[in-house]
Amino acid sequence: MNTFDVQRLRWHFDFARTGRVVTNNAASTQPPRELVELYRSLIPWYENVHRGQSAASRYTTELFELAYDTIAGWLNAPGRGSIVTCRNTTEAINTVMYSLLTEFRDGDNVVTTALEHNSNFVPWYAMCREILPRFGRHVEYRVARFDPVTGQLDLEHLASLVDARTKLVACTGASNFLGTRPDLAAVRRITLASGYRQPDGDHRSLLLVDGAQLVPTAAIDVRALGVDYLAFSFHKLMAPFGVGVLYGREELLNTTRPFLYGGDMVAEQGVTAEHVRYNRLPWKYAAGTPNILGVIVSAQALRLLVDLVAPEPAGYFGTGRPLGRATIERAMDRVAAHTRALTGRALDAVREIDGLKVFGPESAADRAPLISFGLSGWSPMRLAEELDRRGVESRAGCHCATLAHRALGLDPPASCRLSFAVYNTAGDVDRATGALREIAARRLSPAAG
Ligand code: PLP
Repeated sequence: MNTFDVQRLRWHFDFARTGRVVTNNAASTQPPRELVELYRSLIPWYENVHRGQSAASRYTTELFELAYDTIAGWLNAPGRGSIVTCRNTTEAINTVMYSLLTEFRDGDNVVTTALEHNSNFVPWYAMCREILPRFGRHVEYRVARFDPVTGQLDLEHLASLVDARTKLVACTGASNFLGTRPDLAAVRRITLASGYRQPDGDHRSLLLVDGAQLVPTAAIDVRALGVDYLAFSFHKLMAPFGVGVLYGREELLNTTRPFLYGGDMVAEQGVTAEHVRYNRLPWKYAAGTPNILGVIVSAQALRLLVDLVAPEPAGYFGTGRPLGRATIERAMDRVAAHTRALTGRALDAVREIDGLKVFGPESAADRAPLISFGLSGWSPMRLAEELDRRGVESRAGCHCATLAHRALGLDPPASCRLSFAVYNTAGDVDRATGALREIAARRLSPAAG
């Protein structure tokens, strides 16, 4: 059975008692009470990791390192050595950029797509236009199109851009504007066929997937997907703000430059004035004191999610018990089925509204759980403000997916978006779409938009 009792689940979230209709979940999700309490419960043993001989430091270090194992297991990564923690998806993608920076050869290129969030476009733009030219290296970025009607990535165009000088393809797992989820297996095949000569002797392009909108609603198996890098943010996965993850293939993380330099990323006794040896993975990518409690709490968010959607008590939260693949897949299937049903309900309702245009795929089955739209005569900003007046939280703007808004010819490059999470109800969808219907019917001073 792919369902769970959403009302019972909502009891775990403080926001649910406020009457808020939280439908801006693609930006950030709400934290359940257990995670806030977990944070509090760690305080008596509050200590730094890898930097003390006290029992408190050993205890905190153990929890911190176990968090890496939970995250690795969640992604079916081979182990903690392939997990880097950082602040968010943006920092994870910048980590890839800076760690590969010295490897780009004159004449290389990076291929990305017009579906990307700016955090998977601007770093490549900056690298190609602003950083490498100063070192005399000329590297080009190329942007693959998408179909303006279906929102699907144009794989043929992508394939035509990838060649034997493409070091990296940087592609989203799901668009935060159109909801489209590119066929990552097809993208992978394109990267495998490029013939690019990597420093390790491989002949193929690397694949970086921006998983910010994909990881919260799908069971991700990095080995089955064959990705080289995957980035995501825990603040879209019920954890409090502050922790992002970069999965990287261990061989790559081992051979490429670290992103940040300093303490803890160096080997024990590994520093002399003449030479510095770096720490083993994953700590080579953990310079400086990390967000220790945030990482512990974030990994526990995954366990809590499994418990919350399980049909009977599962008891993973607060433990280090291994989460099997089947358990993770069942849990994420339930999350996906629930949020897909809400998205379908929203699509059905808004299609009935005169003057409202939904961007992206027709069917909820082809989208991340979000819908972006415009209402004729209304600026998206004014529309979002009107929704807020009716208690419905949406987001208006370009959602940092500026290229895709421009590709659709939207002027200004903006839309209004509703996005759903595991704790949303059919009632939330009806409140939101009802408010939209009311606004559209009243046509409140439309020109003023
Ligand atoms: N990529 C996508 C697809 C996103 O939706 C977002 C956030 O909305 C990001 C990247 C950036 O995430 P963060 O702000 O956590 O770095």
